[in-house]
Amino acid sequence: MALPRRRKKASSALAPPSAPSIVTTSKTLSEARDVLARNGSIVSSTEAAIASAEANKDLNAFLEVFSTSALEQAARVDAKRATGDAGPLAGLILSIKDNICYKDHKVGASSRILEGFTSLYSATVVERLLAADAVILGRTNCDEFAMGSSNENSAYGKVLNPVDKRMVPGGSSGGAASSVAAGIVHAALGSDTGGSIRQPASFTGTIGFKPTYGRVSRYGLIAFASSFDQIGPFAHTVEDIAAVYEAMAGNDPRDSTTSRKPVERVTLAHPGKLRIGYFREGLERAGMDPEVVAHLQAHIDRLKADGHVVEPIDVPLLDHQVPTYYILATAEASSNLARFDGIHFGHRSKAANGVEETYRLSRSEGFGPEVKRRILLGTFVLSAGYYDAYYGQAQRVRRIIRNKTLEAFEKYDMVLGPTCPTTAFAHGAITDPVAMYLQDIFTVQANLAGTPAISLPTGIHTNGLPFGVQLMAKPFDEARLLAAVKHLF
Ligand code: GLN
Repeated sequence: MALPRRRKKASSALAPPSAPSIVTTSKTLSEARDVLARNGSIVSSTEAAIASAEANKDLNAFLEVFSTSALEQAARVDAKRATGDAGPLAGLILSIKDNICYKDHKVGASSRILEGFTSLYSATVVERLLAADAVILGRTNCDEFAMGSSNENSAYGKVLNPVDKRMVPGGSSGGAASSVAAGIVHAALGSDTGGSIRQPASFTGTIGFKPTYGRVSRYGLIAFASSFDQIGPFAHTVEDIAAVYEAMAGNDPRDSTTSRKPVERVTLAHPGKLRIGYFREGLERAGMDPEVVAHLQAHIDRLKADGHVVEPIDVPLLDHQVPTYYILATAEASSNLARFDGIHFGHRSKAANGVEETYRLSRSEGFGPEVKRRILLGTFVLSAGYYDAYYGQAQRVRRIIRNKTLEAFEKYDMVLGPTCPTTAFAHGAITDPVAMYLQDIFTVQANLAGTPAISLPTGIHTNGLPFGVQLMAKPFDEARLLAAVKHLF
């Protein structure tokens, strides 16, 4: 996809007269603030980010750079800075995944079926980030409708991992992860239904955070599986993760699944000595990369030496988690995606005659193979003859997994495990869909149970690739989870 050309005129017309034109790139919000303190401007750092997106075009991380609106917002925030009124995210430049709506901007879930669709309204997260004075640089490539673990399912081509371009960046938020890992933006918004923030974070050496289900509004997020989906940030530092999270979190009357619980302030103060459970299976399971295992063991030993209580726990029904997730997520997806029929929403086949053929051809032409596979599976598990055997049963298993997960948090403050069994794999290396689904083995629990979970880039493999560890906490314990990340790792 072609990136829109830079519009020099917009910046010079809108920048406050005092803004000097030093072009600087920074990796974090605090570096960005240093640049601003040294007489930089948000307009010039936005211009630098636009240039960086252009220079890194081969990653295919961005489907579109919103040059005009990004520079307009940057100029607005520069003007507010001049009068001392700038919000908490002034200086932050971020990308949004192509399933998050931004009024008057294109959005398409990286699917042909939404080609050319323009949002009529903004997602709550977009409104809140703009209100906090962040700049939204553009929309990032992802697996179609957020279905995948490698970002190879996009209708607009695969995304490259900036650490090693032969490798996948993970998915489904691969463009988001890539945009941060390449240093184009300070932060990115992704969505995590079964691991789509944490797994790409692990593969690209970034931090990826999925908050508690219901903590961040899903209003304006194109739905994949509504009882699992959660928006969350990628960044290089826990401070930036916390800043973006705090700006977005909290009740939203437009999403009835958001919690009314007040959002706890994230102070990042030392959480004290913790009780930490770790996944025994994360160390023993076949298929685990030995270096990932040794790395996790080293964390366990060090945390013990630091005086934390660290004990092995069993992952509840580990072998049932991925099947349960794929039954429920596909069931919800088949229902959510029914609206893309060429009549209500989405591409309409030019070849179709009559209503039925319009549905059939529009959907056949518009959806890619993985999305079709999931609609078929989801429709099957919801069908009258099989509903009890699959969907009903999976709901019961989900309940058991959730209860057992919450039980573990009666005894432990946090649960530690690997994010993924391995480092990033090469493009084209996994072709069997079921093998791809097993990527999610350690990440789906947090979505099945609704708990917050974060992947931290603590390891570098001898193959040169980064990998993460995952820390989970009980629902709504984000503040302590982020504090633990800052002080314990
Ligand atoms: N890899 C998982 C899937 O394909 C997770 C996707 C996600 O979290 N959006 O469903």
